[in-house]
Amino acid sequence: MAQLDIHRLTKRYGEFHAVREVSLSVADGEFLVLLGPSGCGKTTTLRMVAGFIEPTSGHVKLGGGDVTLLPPWKRNAGMVFQSYALFPHLTVAQNVAFGLEMRKLPRPDIDKRVDEALALVRLGGLGARLPRQLSGGQQQRVALARALAIRPDVLLLDEPLSNLDAKLRQEVRVEIRELQRQLGLTTVMVTHDQEEALTMADRLVVMNEGSVHQVGTQRDLYERPADRFVAGFVGRTTFLAGTVEAPGRFRTDGGLGLAIVGDTTGKAALSLRPERLEIAPGPLPELDNDLSGTVEFVSYLGAQIDIHVRLSPADRLVVQIANRGGGFAPEVGQTVHVGWQAGAGQVFAD
Ligand code: ATP
Repeated sequence: MAQLDIHRLTKRYGEFHAVREVSLSVADGEFLVLLGPSGCGKTTTLRMVAGFIEPTSGHVKLGGGDVTLLPPWKRNAGMVFQSYALFPHLTVAQNVAFGLEMRKLPRPDIDKRVDEALALVRLGGLGARLPRQLSGGQQQRVALARALAIRPDVLLLDEPLSNLDAKLRQEVRVEIRELQRQLGLTTVMVTHDQEEALTMADRLVVMNEGSVHQVGTQRDLYERPADRFVAGFVGRTTFLAGTVEAPGRFRTDGGLGLAIVGDTTGKAALSLRPERLEIAPGPLPELDNDLSGTVEFVSYLGAQIDIHVRLSPADRLVVQIANRGGGFAPEVGQTVHVGWQAGAGQVFAD
């Protein structure tokens, strides 16, 4: 295993920047997830690390050595694709052996490593089958075995679970994570599935429009989002548009005056996480902000209830309450109070 360093990696197609100056370090044995909306440049970044796409500029270093100009099979990166990319006419064992043959290992070594890799993904004994004789989950494990057989310095996973059904996804997620830990594999995974990213990663990279917006742990991204994009992308939030009129004072475009923490004046958005808000039938005088509003919509989600409250013609927010049974359960049309401490909101300048 090895450390992976990406330095100012850029891919341009004509004038279009698919990836723009991305720099990242992945520690030995770390599981890093690239997360972002469709088209943000995640896959292009991963493919540049694997060697399938040539960067316009920038560098990729693996274990300290510069591999930017090496072809895929010379950089010892194991890649797993969303589509599995197994050769349909080759047996499972031949598929797993493929990378080892490319590297011209002696036959006995190849056979040994194929057996080891299939045992690791719990497919021992299925080496003689063809891919079409396996389930989707098993095929994905063959793809994983093929990547592991080369004993890669870095494991690269490109949306590896998105072709599996929901239940299987959760199982394979845990399997991959446990295997990764057991082998101490330096791993980079691409996904647009937030839950998958949050459950699997040691650290996450949030990308948008080819650039990195923030790198951090789940807690960093949720509690201290670097910008408005990250606040809106990771977890749920309501943004109220308005202006910071004076230090600590925010006025929404709908005319509500709110207490905030922040002193840079000017146009801004106030981000309020639904679970950080209080809701009650009457005033909440102990809180810095206490507003009355009308319930417009209620979503009953079992463990939690989402309540959409209209505070002014231009301002509506979502409050989430835990369903503890028998508590306050507002109904559509009811007048309620919504409150929060100034520090519960986050202000992002426009
Ligand atoms: P998704 O989750 O949809 O796979 P992604 O974040 O992985 O998205 P990329 O596949 O990395 O996105 O693509 C980033 C951007 O680069 C997209 O806007 C895409 O259209 C563009 N792009 C990718 N390959 C090419 C190409 N060969 N020529 C031109 N543009 C490309």
